[in-house]
Amino acid sequence: MKRLILLGASGSIGQQTIDVVLQHPDLFELTAFGVGKNVDSARRILKQFDVKVFSVQEEADALTLAKEYPDKTVLFGDEGLKTLASGSDYDVLVNALVGFAGFAPTLAAIEAGHDVALANKESLVCGGELINRALALHGVSLYPIDSEHSAIFQCLQGNRTRQVRRLIITASGGSFRNLSREELSDVTVEQALAHPNWSMGAKITIDSATMMNKGFEVTEAHWLFHIPYEQIDVLMHPQSIVHSMVEYVDHSVMAQMGTPDMRLPIQYALSWPDRLELNEPALDLAKVGKLEFYEPDTERFPLLALAYEAGKMGGTAGAVMNAANEAANLAFRKKDIPFPAIEEIVIGAVHEVPWHELSTVEDLNAANTAGYDYAMERIRKVN
Ligand code: MG
Repeated sequence: MKRLILLGASGSIGQQTIDVVLQHPDLFELTAFGVGKNVDSARRILKQFDVKVFSVQEEADALTLAKEYPDKTVLFGDEGLKTLASGSDYDVLVNALVGFAGFAPTLAAIEAGHDVALANKESLVCGGELINRALALHGVSLYPIDSEHSAIFQCLQGNRTRQVRRLIITASGGSFRNLSREELSDVTVEQALAHPNWSMGAKITIDSATMMNKGFEVTEAHWLFHIPYEQIDVLMHPQSIVHSMVEYVDHSVMAQMGTPDMRLPIQYALSWPDRLELNEPALDLAKVGKLEFYEPDTERFPLLALAYEAGKMGGTAGAVMNAANEAANLAFRKKDIPFPAIEEIVIGAVHEVPWHELSTVEDLNAANTAGYDYAMERIRKVN
């Protein structure tokens, strides 16, 4: 029996993690969870599981819920998440938080000696160096939930990392893959949120439309699998059936395929090296018919190129890029800036915010603030 803590429980990955736990009550137990402002989802989870402690974002919500559930401990804010992650009474942290907020709980769990199943790619984009140092120090493991990285992880099983020639991360291209750069200037939030293949949260769906998400995934792959950026390629694949590939020195290419269903990577991260039944229709390749692949256009998607650049810069560049993107992504969703401004602001941040070495969590927090402040200033100028 694995005892899990689930952070980001009300989001898309969080809800699908709950599905996986409910499907396998003999294998997994939810011991604590965190949600944001969705207190109704907290009430729903408390009906489904006997959880003694949970966390919400706002203090006012925590006080309300503490009155409703006098036998439970209700925490709140970033501290609440950190307290849960650094506790001793569980086996695996499932981190399904969105954004830089996910970094501190990831690190806290590792430092407390727990394995982490990671959907929060920003933990690695911002602080991959610090995370890997902590993993080595505490002898625990990070299991990818991101579908591409789960695919690579599966393709690496039984093989040697030093015999990898390159990682090939597939990309659907997001909601605007068929639009030219000129056509992007007046696209709406609603159009951006309609992803052709995957049903995901709002932030990551916008990140898919800019391909910032794919850029983040390149960085994530670099830190997860210890492969240089020069050996990580992105390949456009509109059908999202091949979730990623690994090419070896003998030119053998291993691919992992499946329907676009996040429950598979979630449960594999929790059950590795075992595989569990999944109660969904299996992949029917005859029905899919054809699989297409083509080279990405980094002029059409400049944030993909930027992520390689920031990755090679190292230090605080990843954290600055992420912070500017978080601010610009949200500003677009609030209709404060047009879609192409996201790219301009994130590129500007990486090039203009001073670069530093990344040695400590303080360096990281300072870089996050600097990237965010830079973006907010530019967002204000748009209006
Ligand atoms: Mg992904």
